[in-house]
Amino acid sequence: MSEYRLSVGMEVHAELRTQSKMFCRCQVAFGGEPNTRVCPVCLGLPGALPVPNREAIQMVLRTALALNCQVPVDSVFHRKNYFYPDLPKGFQVSQYEETNPIGYHGHLMIHTSRGPKRIGIKRVHLEEDTGKILHLPGGGSGVDYNRAGVPLMEIVTDFPPDIESAEEAREYVAQLRQLLVYLGVCDGKMEEGSLRCEPNISVRRADSETLGTKTELKNLSSFRNVFLGTEYERRRQIAVLETGGTVAQETRGWNEATESSYLMRTKESEQEYRYFPCPDLVPLHFDRADVEAARAALPELPLAKLQRYQDEFNLSPQDAQLLTAERPWAEWFEAAVAAGGDPKAVCNWMNGDFARLLKETGQAAVIPGVESDTEGREPARMTPEILVKVAKLVADGTITGKKAKEVFEKAYMTGDDPASMVEGQTQISDTDFIRQAVADVIAEHPDPVATYRSGKEGVLGFLVGQVMRRTQGRANPPMVQEEMRRQLDETS
Ligand code: ZN
Ligand code: MN
Repeated sequence: MSEYRLSVGMEVHAELRTQSKMFCRCQVAFGGEPNTRVCPVCLGLPGALPVPNREAIQMVLRTALALNCQVPVDSVFHRKNYFYPDLPKGFQVSQYEETNPIGYHGHLMIHTSRGPKRIGIKRVHLEEDTGKILHLPGGGSGVDYNRAGVPLMEIVTDFPPDIESAEEAREYVAQLRQLLVYLGVCDGKMEEGSLRCEPNISVRRADSETLGTKTELKNLSSFRNVFLGTEYERRRQIAVLETGGTVAQETRGWNEATESSYLMRTKESEQEYRYFPCPDLVPLHFDRADVEAARAALPELPLAKLQRYQDEFNLSPQDAQLLTAERPWAEWFEAAVAAGGDPKAVCNWMNGDFARLLKETGQAAVIPGVESDTEGREPARMTPEILVKVAKLVADGTITGKKAKEVFEKAYMTGDDPASMVEGQTQISDTDFIRQAVADVIAEHPDPVATYRSGKEGVLGFLVGQVMRRTQGRANPPMVQEEMRRQLDETS
């Protein structure tokens, strides 16, 4: 079998997290009773006039800048004309190559298992979403226009494509999603359709200069499906070519249950959308000073943060990745370090017990005094200050690591001061005290002691455990261990 190369172009549609729709004041939300968030503008009734949503334009501008795009001075809205029941106006307001989308000629650096890779971005543009066709239980179909007119950002990768494997396809989507969520422009909920991606997939023999015929894959609702779908198409196309066939240009759906793609429609001749500038909307004008102000106001982006955590806090790439995966989590970490926490200790507590407790209780990590969107989850009582206090009690030997887990959990549940919880039960490192406790245990357990002395040192753990038990876990474990070994070896 000859070698094949894969090429994947990715088109991503992201719903913007604005309060209202793109050209009217209808609310943007997910779900709800059909056709309850509609008005003459988003229903395209005659005479209704659109007013562009400034917030949406700013969001696309910020995304374009974060993706290292050029921003034109003037950018125009076009009408893309086609007829489909989910499009009430008979056209979609969109943007068109020739008159400048809000961003073009950019790139996203992604990290892959084979190192960093630059994925070229052809354009970032603003358009509006369509309605949804619903198949009714009693037969027939209906249309829900709640989603019609929701601001939608389209991000398209360069041609020829830079993505050359299913892993890169998945990482591109995952890291683009992370960026959009960091920027606060999209909630990133693929399962709710607020981030939709459509890869164009083709293979060609390794010695061929020209790209093969592509198929477009729809309905990918998770990173895993992007990976599986791309890999499936790669193999399917290779199998077609290997058996002497030709790949047909078609749109295919992804069946999650069977993990296979299926034919949706063959591409007829390229559709004629009769693009023309929308006469109801004035061109957008981007003042250079405004663009630079928007660039300066961008938050620290995930890749920069990932690198800084390794350089500044000396964290491993894995630790840095866990901490920076979500912006609120990274900010919580930074607040704990600012409160005097040791970065590695804070990292371990956060990715260990804290993450587990948040998951178990369904709560959200919040920083007191900082407004955050917990998406309906109850805020946890654990604060950066409390976590730092627990970490310090361990670091200065006041409590054992084991005791600290208990204290942490209690502080998590109550929000109480950890120092007050450990009063009178701090770790004992007094040499005489430990020597006596060890001697007592040796005297009380002649059989295990004899076993140890016959060379079976495995019982040492049991004997140390007895000392810990007598001292309610307060004796310093390494000291107990050392003293136990010393006394057992000495008197044998
Ligand atoms: Zn409306
Ligand atoms: Mn589009």
